[in-house]
Amino acid sequence: MFNLILFGPPGSGKGTQSEKIVEKFGLIHLSTGNLLRQEIADKTGLGLAAKSFMDKGQLVPDEVVIGMIDTCIEKHADAKGFLFDGFPRTVAQAQALDNLLTLKKTSITKVIALDVLEEELIKRLIKRGETSGRSDDTNEEVIRRRFAVYKDETEPVADYYKHQGKFEAIKGIGTIDEIFNALGSLIETEIAAQQSVSAQ
Ligand code: ADP
Repeated sequence: MFNLILFGPPGSGKGTQSEKIVEKFGLIHLSTGNLLRQEIADKTGLGLAAKSFMDKGQLVPDEVVIGMIDTCIEKHADAKGFLFDGFPRTVAQAQALDNLLTLKKTSITKVIALDVLEEELIKRLIKRGETSGRSDDTNEEVIRRRFAVYKDETEPVADYYKHQGKFEAIKGIGTIDEIFNALGSLIETEIAAQQSVSAQ
């Protein structure tokens, strides 16, 4: 399997690039943000509980998102690989993901981060909030809170994968196609490396 994590702060373009990557490489897209927003739209108990955290810019508790990911991985047992977007966001989530993938006799192949400076991100999120209807994108205080949470809880996830030798960052500034080309060639290199190892 080819399992990729697209990593980066809120507004760095993970959702946009993920859609293009899954289309090109035939991976299953697992976005915890999208899954949570679907639960909210469906007015499930999980969605109602999650909304109160999301609207404040806080993380939804680990058990909740890990449970959602577990269900999705089970549902796509014959996938050729997954693209994780917005997950893992804490070291505990990263450890749980490693355990889930080990049970499936697979692992994370690569983590690619999109690097974008905070001031640019805040501009993008405020602009997105004007059209997306996302309540967490319209209030600057909530946006700042999400960055603080990212620094405290999510940045350590980068070190977790650096220790495993799986982490690589690319520039997240430029046109959508420029960034997609950079991501695509990195992914192709990784796929080729994986194939040459399995052919030995
Ligand atoms: P963004 O990357 O723009 O912040 P997402 O759509 O990924 O947006 O997430 C929106 C919100 O959903 C987050 O601020 C958080 O409250 C919640 N969320 C998404 N993924 C996770 C996760 N893996 N763990 C905890 N909370 C999450």
